Amino acid sequence: MSTVQRQSALPVRMERFAPKDEVSKNAQLLLRAGFIAKEMAGVYTFLPLGWRVMNNIMGIIREEMESLGAQEIFLTALQDPSIWETTNRWSDDVVDVWFKTQLKSGAPLGLGFTHEEPVTRLFTRMVSSHKDLPFSVFQIQTKFRNETRAKSGIMRCREFLMKDLYSFSRTSEEHEEFYNRAQNAYERIFARVGIGDSTYLTFASGGTFSKYSHEFQTLCDAGEDVIYVDEKRKIAINEEVMSDDVLNDLGIRREDLVQHTAAEVGNIFSLKTKFSDAFQLLYRDEEGEQRPVVMGSYGIGPGRVMGVAAELFGTESAMVWPVSIAPYAVHVLSLGRNDDALACAKACADRGVDVLLDDRNRRAGEQFAEADMIGCPIRVILSEKTARDGVVEVTDRVSDTTQRIPVAEAPARIAEMVQENTQALCR
Ligand code: ATP
Ligand code: MG
Repeated sequence: MSTVQRQSALPVRMERFAPKDEVSKNAQLLLRAGFIAKEMAGVYTFLPLGWRVMNNIMGIIREEMESLGAQEIFLTALQDPSIWETTNRWSDDVVDVWFKTQLKSGAPLGLGFTHEEPVTRLFTRMVSSHKDLPFSVFQIQTKFRNETRAKSGIMRCREFLMKDLYSFSRTSEEHEEFYNRAQNAYERIFARVGIGDSTYLTFASGGTFSKYSHEFQTLCDAGEDVIYVDEKRKIAINEEVMSDDVLNDLGIRREDLVQHTAAEVGNIFSLKTKFSDAFQLLYRDEEGEQRPVVMGSYGIGPGRVMGVAAELFGTESAMVWPVSIAPYAVHVLSLGRNDDALACAKACADRGVDVLLDDRNRRAGEQFAEADMIGCPIRVILSEKTARDGVVEVTDRVSDTTQRIPVAEAPARIAEMVQENTQALCR
């Protein structure tokens, strides 16, 4: 059953001005509208509206992970240095984003910035035979990174949630098959959260283990990456790896490419046997031969996705969320004297729609300005005038079209609009 949230009960204070120390549009908008609160540079609290958006994004990610057959786990943030020494990733000279702390005894600990090492070691206890494979696990968990730059609002934080998925396969063929399915799941995720049209599968550096990795890059001025897009083929090359050799290799012509600024919202990586070799994650094949497990690692930052959505669909003072991740799909504004607003909101909720009801009886201008910032994609207005006419006024803010619908028919029609708009994202 869906909810009606009375706005009068939301612990939120909208700000008239954006904070001076924030330069990014996403932070300005999200702070002003009360989605997030700033604790310090690169560290943000999610308030009720913002946490609902995050939960919607994470819900879509979870569904797609589960459709891959991946099981959800929850690894620890506190990290034992010895695991990371195994792969030479404890040293600050090798990894420059560690936050480190220590036990009372003085023994060092780290706060996890990623989880390849612990997840690989974990499964050495459970995998020994080809019958134990393949499988995949994912988590949505806090990562800590001592990033030098934290100027992009929630797109680059020092503490942030990451969905990380790890796959364990017997052979490269088996890995490839999973990797391709994961790539498709990522495409569905970015379409469903509403940024699919501007997100490109991008060839990027494969590090020391593979020729390429794949990033999912969303065109966005606030991004930190430069990519070259082949619009016809819907793929891109990260400037990091751009060369004639790579163009040849991928069969891409330089003249088909257009340069763009973009933000990396996700990436997928073939790890081959780098981590399984290091931790001796081995299995016996059908002939009794010992072989290393073939691994992959697949990340998405739900907070970065939210920030990118704010950049794409917002200005400093107005936002229109994709319906699938909106804090509420529908915002019912009760203006002046109107006794039908609560009934209308409840009737929408009965049809499975989440509704925010502005029941505060402020000046209409103020109610509108705040509704613009909150950014629900469907706005329903009930006023003295609509009551006289026996209608409600329904605006689809994505197409910017308004209809007057008889009161009795409105909830069913609004629920339909929500459904149609959700489906439109997945075409
Ligand atoms: P970047 O190149 O942006 O520094 P990365 O390549 O280090 O990111 P991964 O370690 O693969 O990223 O992380 C997976 C995903 O987590 C990224 O695609 C991004 O969506 C998100 N992410 C990474 N760093 C941050 C951060 N500091 N704040 C918020 N989200 C992040
Ligand atoms: Mg990257």
